[in-house]
Amino acid sequence: MQEITSSLESEFALVGGDYTNINIIKRRALSKYLTMQYLPFLEIAAEKYIMREQVTNTRGCSDFLYVSNDNVLISNGFCKNRWCLVCNRIRTAGLINKYQEKLDEWKDKQFVTLTIPNVSSTEISKTNSLIHNALYKIKDLSRKKSSGCGSISGFRKYECTYNPIRNDFHPHFHMIVENQKQAEFIHNQWLKRFPNANKVAQDIRPATTNATKELFKYFTKLISKQQNDRTIYPAALMHIFANVRGLRVFQPFGDFYNKINNNVEEEVFNIERVGIDFDKEKYRWDSTENDWCNIKTCKNLTNIEFKQVPWTVDPRTF
Ligand SMILES: [Zn+2]
Repeated sequence: MQEITSSLESEFALVGGDYTNINIIKRRALSKYLTMQYLPFLEIAAEKYIMREQVTNTRGCSDFLYVSNDNVLISNGFCKNRWCLVCNRIRTAGLINKYQEKLDEWKDKQFVTLTIPNVSSTEISKTNSLIHNALYKIKDLSRKKSSGCGSISGFRKYECTYNPIRNDFHPHFHMIVENQKQAEFIHNQWLKRFPNANKVAQDIRPATTNATKELFKYFTKLISKQQNDRTIYPAALMHIFANVRGLRVFQPFGDFYNKINNNVEEEVFNIERVGIDFDKEKYRWDSTENDWCNIKTCKNLTNIEFKQVPWTVDPRTF
């Protein structure tokens, strides 16, 4: 496979910004190609949750590319779904773009991980409520003078992963908070509420720039890669997605929340489509070519070739 490199920051630039680097488009082609490979399996798994239509919607994500009057390539629209690799990369890039600089102003910022023991498929929903409520109460408690750390300020991400060997789920939080005192307060309060939580797993460490960038990535792993094989767990994934409906995956809070405009989704995905010359050049995704092809000339845009590797689809259901 061709080496495709493009930073997430440059991915953001493509969203309505200046587009000069073909690597960015190649990276998006790879994301689109991979998403289209596993989407049929997710569609089947989605039926149980009456989410098939929403999953199918991803087929049309970033299907068309138009050339604007200033020769910028602009996508027709994004599905914004959490199982879409195209949208996940754009979302991550947008979050980094928006939050990284502000987080970097904190010199003592800490990366906090809060976990509880893994749960079965039937327990995810109530566990999600339980841990979200606990964190809400801890944040509330921090405002009291007795907390000694001041009102907690920062950013949290909810994550849920699937363990195929144990066949159970791991809902947990990652957070960036302003300083060590706040981190320790959260840590102690968490262990008070969840005494069964593994003490070693409740991690506090200085938040490096790389750690904060990691935090903005997708909230569950979509593809498990072995050496020459890709594995997907459609039923487990749809179960996770169905159980996060209505929950915020990314959430700024405290003073940090007040400093920023919270609606990143809207900012990132809603692109002004002014100045597009729809007759000039238009490319459409071709699932046989795995590339965007010029509507008039049929010429491929990226000429990228993907290495075909076998997929393993886990047959389990929940
Ligand atoms: Zn998408």
